[in-house]
Amino acid sequence: MSHLRSSGGQADVGAAPRAAAKHRLPPPPSSLRGRIVIAAVAIGAFGAAAGGQTLQAVDGASTDEVTPLANSTKASDNAAAFGVGGSAPAAPQILQVARQVDPSAEAGKLVKSQRITEQREAEEAEARRPKRVAPTRGSFTSGFGYRDGAMHYGLDIAAPIGTPIYAAADGVVIEAGPASGFGLWVKVEHADGTVTVYGHMYRFNVRKGQQVLAGEQIAEVGNNGVSFGAHLHFEVWNAAGVKTNPLPWLNEAGITV
Ligand SMILES: [Zn+2]
Repeated sequence: MSHLRSSGGQADVGAAPRAAAKHRLPPPPSSLRGRIVIAAVAIGAFGAAAGGQTLQAVDGASTDEVTPLANSTKASDNAAAFGVGGSAPAAPQILQVARQVDPSAEAGKLVKSQRITEQREAEEAEARRPKRVAPTRGSFTSGFGYRDGAMHYGLDIAAPIGTPIYAAADGVVIEAGPASGFGLWVKVEHADGTVTVYGHMYRFNVRKGQQVLAGEQIAEVGNNGVSFGAHLHFEVWNAAGVKTNPLPWLNEAGITV
């Protein structure tokens, strides 16, 4: 395969002496040696194409076509033969290669800057996001307290069936399913241990263990369980599990129902 090296084959007999003769040439003057080094670097930088041309010249051309590179005293001839480009020094060519790296570095900085901007915008959006919201929109029909001699542990908001019900604050769904009296209920536990309870809904769209954000829809208003007319029954249990009046809990966040 290696036709540049003699392996005793008929075709290689003529080639080997030419390569040997080239090595016996006297070394070029020191001023040329530097240019040859530069040219060699340039060939390396320009890759396989330049290398392929050089190999082709050594392999297929006569000795005369190869040796002038070493013997010539004209710098421009050397440069042109190696494809460096006229009498221009080789160094700027190499610098040009180096400059090609800069745009990608600049692009990297832009991407990083964009990421920082997006992160800051996300943080600002998070800061603006309401941390407590009304659980639904409708008519306040009944509050926390005794009603007809029985304790009513939540507040009722009447609204058409299918009206969205929202998580009143960020939290984790700890119950979602049937419950006595409530028909269906969803319970959401919040970071401070408070639990909000949503009852009588038509259907829900969360599951136990799911993280929800304040204002995220969790269900739709219904009329299930012990209910006389479509409404949301909303309770707030404090961290000790005591059912408390939801109105102050909403009011302290500026929410009225
Ligand atoms: Zn109620």
